[in-house]
Amino acid sequence: MSPSRSPEGRVIERTTTVVIGAGHAGLAASHFLGERAIDHIVLERGEVANSWRRERWDSLRLLTPNWQSRLPGHHYGGPDPDGYMTMGEVVEFIDRFAALSRAPVRTGTNVTSVRRTDDGYHVRTEHGEIGCRTVVIASGACNRPAVPQLSEAVPAGVEQVTPFGYRGPDQLPDGGVLVVGASATGVQLAAEIQRSGRPVTLSTGEHVRLPRTYRGRDVLWWMDAAGVWDQRYDEVPDLTRARQLASPQLAGTPERATLDINALTAMGVEVVGRAAAVRDGQLLFSGGLRNVIALADLKMERLLNTFDEWARVAGKDSDVKPPERFEPTRVPDSTRLRLDLRGGAISTVVWATGFRPDYPWLDVPVVDRKGHLNHDGGVVDSPGLYALGLPVLRRRRSTFIHGIEDDARAVVDHLTGHLAARR
Ligand SMILES: Cc1cc2nc3c(=O)[nH]c(=O)nc-3n(C[C@H](O)[C@H](O)[C@H](O)COP(=O)(O)OP(=O)(O)OC[C@H]3O[C@@H](n4cnc5c(N)ncnc54)[C@H](O)[C@@H]3O)c2cc1C
Repeated sequence: MSPSRSPEGRVIERTTTVVIGAGHAGLAASHFLGERAIDHIVLERGEVANSWRRERWDSLRLLTPNWQSRLPGHHYGGPDPDGYMTMGEVVEFIDRFAALSRAPVRTGTNVTSVRRTDDGYHVRTEHGEIGCRTVVIASGACNRPAVPQLSEAVPAGVEQVTPFGYRGPDQLPDGGVLVVGASATGVQLAAEIQRSGRPVTLSTGEHVRLPRTYRGRDVLWWMDAAGVWDQRYDEVPDLTRARQLASPQLAGTPERATLDINALTAMGVEVVGRAAAVRDGQLLFSGGLRNVIALADLKMERLLNTFDEWARVAGKDSDVKPPERFEPTRVPDSTRLRLDLRGGAISTVVWATGFRPDYPWLDVPVVDRKGHLNHDGGVVDSPGLYALGLPVLRRRRSTFIHGIEDDARAVVDHLTGHLAARR
């Protein structure tokens, strides 16, 4: 499309659709836009798969098995379908997808503003301006670590780290480490730091306990087969809660070992309740540890029952091993309710308290006061504006690599209809 000029004489490039972000979500959008011959550009502030290159720690592997790494027209084809990709392998996998789908990516192009115009949107970047009719926001759900306000009261002598700054245990000072948060990130970092010889205390709020394997199969095979992750967003009973759910306690290690609280306490990690406040240099923990642990055990038990029921009804019982049940999580009779952060026992606090999206460049009033986009299955509350890659966007598996294909197809279908209606 030929460029136009602003009233002040600036050149404005024109295209039909701008996609923001060249992670797997933006690239999947590009794949379907290309299939429908919709003229588009993918703008990426860093490189393709930037978050996997720059924002993850060194030892991280996917917690989803290789066979589950599938994107439209591209899937894992290596010799170890049950293994888990390293970060280098994920970057290669996504790079290859970008090349195969010939995505028109402009790297090193930071989007600094998006605002509405009479016929669509005006996108400003550090390298120029673009006018378009539709925008797909695929800038990620994990742009910033979510750190609770109580971190501000942590004494100055204690180092504070987030998963964005953490690369490996050797960068931490010697001494005790408090890891706050027991989702996938928290349990993985707690195990790695404890193994490095630094004694770890793990502060545990609500969490999702899962065994790595069940009845001889990866637990994510069961999630897939039993249709748990396929549940649609408009069928989920409490969507707001589902969108905030912590990631499951899983790690993708070659040993395929379970990494739940029992595994961590067996390694010597001390488990305490949710971090509630810092007062006079003391971190105070909630007394509800026993309850959150009982709840996680109960939910895991229910999920295993769902799997067993699915296997029975689907006639799969003979394809898998017999049902298993796991030891309840061991909780000490009394747990620590406070930790003195001034005494020298703790030299580092790691905030593994989740991640959040960030839209400082979005000048369209579609972000709620908690910083989340208002959307219905990826159709944002502003005509021609779309989102991909957010938790439970259209299905429970939406934020995962294997969840993007159906979501991107549906969102691009809607976008195509929007363009046709305005033609
Ligand atoms: C620690 C961690 C572990 C995970 N493990 C797994 C796993 O095992 N399996 C799995 O399937 N999923 C996993 N996920 C979830 C998910 O697959 C990733 O978060 C994935 O990176 C999301 O892809 P995306 O394309 O939506 O976003 P991203 O990969 O974050 O891509 C967004 C892109 O947008 C760019 N961008 C942002 N703002 C702008 C801007 N203003 N201008 C231009 N470009 C911009 C960013 O640079 C980035 O490249 C994990 C997530 C995290 C955080």
